[in-house]
Amino acid sequence: MNFKDYIRDVPDFPTPGVVFKDITTLLENPEAFHQAAEALLAFTEGLRVNKVVGIESRGFFFAPLLARELGAGFIPARKPGKLPRETRRQDYALEYGTDALEIHAESIEVGDRVLVHDDVLATGGTARAMCDLVRGLGAEVVQCNFLIELQFLKGRDKLDGFPIRALVTY
Ligand code: AMP
Repeated sequence: MNFKDYIRDVPDFPTPGVVFKDITTLLENPEAFHQAAEALLAFTEGLRVNKVVGIESRGFFFAPLLARELGAGFIPARKPGKLPRETRRQDYALEYGTDALEIHAESIEVGDRVLVHDDVLATGGTARAMCDLVRGLGAEVVQCNFLIELQFLKGRDKLDGFPIRALVTY
């Protein structure tokens, strides 16, 4: 299946100059949704993942599906202030300003084998922040996987040392 047939480019969203990769068209198609989940799952074969971290918010479409298939726990990485218990936080730089992600402090343990999932790898700042957070808690990031990698933004360089897989590249 050519997954690109199910991904729409939306120019100037959410801000001028950005070409937004809209995956809702993929999610709406049962066969494309199924095949994409299967392909992401296949990336993780043999990795013995026991936790899947999904990044708010579009990482939440596939991360729980992957967790379920892998027999792993699903951990939501959320924007600050959303999680009710003690959290661990990682700040990261955006083009203008900073952002941050949090996970529940107890959700990752030393020795965990973690898959980090998001929809798009762009500059890599978001995924890198999550990987650093997971590693800082003593767990291993065994893979970062994405539906889409925007290669021209060189996110892969920022994730140097972490194994990366993506379903489609632009
Ligand atoms: P980055 O930290 O630059 O790798 O950005 C990754 C995050 O921003 C992901 O959570 C994506 O959902 C979102 N993102 C960045 N660029 C795009 C894009 N062109 N289309 C859709 N989402 C994007």
